[in-house]
Amino acid sequence: MKKQGICILGATGSIGQNTLDVIAHNQDLFDVIALCAHRSFETLFEQCQKFEPAFAVLSDQEAAQKLQNLISGTSLKTQVLAGEEALCEVVSLASVDKVMSAIVGAKGLLPTLKAIEAGKVVLIANKEPLVMAGALMMQAAQAHGATILPVDSEHNAIFQCLPDHYRTGQTLPKTVRKVTLTASGGPFLHYPQEAFADITPSMACKHPNWKMGQKITVDCATLMNKGLEVIEASHLFSIKHDCIDVVVHPESLIHALVSYCDGSLLAQMGAHDMRIAISHSMAWPHRIASQAAFLDLVEVAKLNFLAPDTSKFPCLRLAYDAMSAGKAAPAVLNASNEVVVHAFLQGQVRFNAIPVIIEKVMNKLYDLSADTIEQVLQVDSIARNETLKEIRKF
Ligand code: NDP
Ligand code: MG
Repeated sequence: MKKQGICILGATGSIGQNTLDVIAHNQDLFDVIALCAHRSFETLFEQCQKFEPAFAVLSDQEAAQKLQNLISGTSLKTQVLAGEEALCEVVSLASVDKVMSAIVGAKGLLPTLKAIEAGKVVLIANKEPLVMAGALMMQAAQAHGATILPVDSEHNAIFQCLPDHYRTGQTLPKTVRKVTLTASGGPFLHYPQEAFADITPSMACKHPNWKMGQKITVDCATLMNKGLEVIEASHLFSIKHDCIDVVVHPESLIHALVSYCDGSLLAQMGAHDMRIAISHSMAWPHRIASQAAFLDLVEVAKLNFLAPDTSKFPCLRLAYDAMSAGKAAPAVLNASNEVVVHAFLQGQVRFNAIPVIIEKVMNKLYDLSADTIEQVLQVDSIARNETLKEIRKF
């Protein structure tokens, strides 16, 4: 494998740090060209000292200045850039072969789209842009010869269970009956629904299996994460929603399954360690060591499966509703969820109000169009404002 130039969007987050760990153990294969984040200048500075990227970008101007001050005191040649436009510039550099898209939320849409338009190999962990504008992103990949590879563990698992010649965005082979995403069920799988109103942010931020950023951890607790992933899968694999199933699998050791017409069910298994999916996407079509632990099946002994309870976790149903409604509904769902999760983390809304508020906003905005990126961004902004209004009413 030729040495690959890498740009990481969201370098200081959970996915970003795991990506850098994979790179640290495969230094002969990857060259870090650009590291980007929002305002964690101290973490980014440490990463710059270790990986010596040509560019370090912070979307927050003040934090970028602080990073510049730190770098000026060293012999590092890293150039510091500031602002959201700079994120879009570095993903398109000629020296960048692969872009890890790992910003959290809608803010990742424009830089990820720029990477696609620059024809890069784009490794997508940042699922929210796919939910908002998946069709437009997949069309752009086709038009610009970009390769999109899934990092989200379920989607990476599906990709691994498909034939070697399959590429994301293509229609699935006719022999595929359906795909199944597994869900851990989150920390409240067996928690009484009557007590949901008293769930605190710190309770919701404790995922039973995975260590991730706060937003996705809350999404796992409401099952919205699985809903977003169903929409994500529909775009990545060009598949209708009635062919995408969700099954709760509390051990999170099987990440997804693909069911074939002959009754075969192919599953991808592995430890709860994102370095497996990250290293797979980084090395594809090759494989490299990820440093993840190997599963001991005798120790695992048992795997459990159960149907998701959408009356207890309505967010999953809302995502299927948004997908059936089409148009701007998925972008509304995503924006509303981002705002209401943020408000929950700030102690402004109760856990059980999350789906109620999102559904109200969806019902209000079901008829908006989202045929262009400009429209998607407009819908995103309208849905955020409507959600804030609903939160104030609560
Ligand atoms: P984190 O919260 O841990 O990290 C988010 C990253 O995004 C940080 O580097 C943050 O920078 C950066 N960021 C946030 N806002 C901006 C912005 N406006 N401009 C530039 N950078 C920004 O999130 P995760 O790593 O957990 O998740 C990242 C994405 O990957 C999410 O979409 C999530 O759904 C998805 N994902 C994550 C998994 C996981 O295991 N963590 C698994 C599967 C998918 P700063 O530190 O400066 O704020
Ligand atoms: Mg996932």
